[in-house]
Amino acid sequence: MAHIKFDTDKCKGCGVCADNCPQNLISIDEERMNALGYRPAVFVDPEGLCKGCKICAEMCPDICIEVYK
Ligand code: SF4
Ligand code: SF4
Repeated sequence: MAHIKFDTDKCKGCGVCADNCPQNLISIDEERMNALGYRPAVFVDPEGLCKGCKICAEMCPDICIEVYK
C-alpha cells in the first residue's frame, strides 16, 4: 500500500496537492497551524486507496511531499 508524508512545517496550505489527487485523499487541516502559520495539508486514506502516483508530490510548489510505495 502506498502512502505519502508531508514536511508539514514547510507546507503553505495552498491546496494544490488536494485539488490534484485523483483519489481525493488529501485535505487541509482546519484544526491546526504549522510553524509558518499556515493550515497544513493532511493525508487521510483509511481504505488504502493511494496508488503512489506521485501527482501530489509533483504538483507541490514547495516540495513538501514524499511518496512511499
Ligand atoms: S500519490 Fe497519488 S493517489 Fe497518493 S495521495 Fe498523492 S496524488 Fe493521491
Ligand atoms: S501543494 Fe504542497 S504547499 Fe500546497 S498544500 Fe500541498 S503540501 Fe502544502
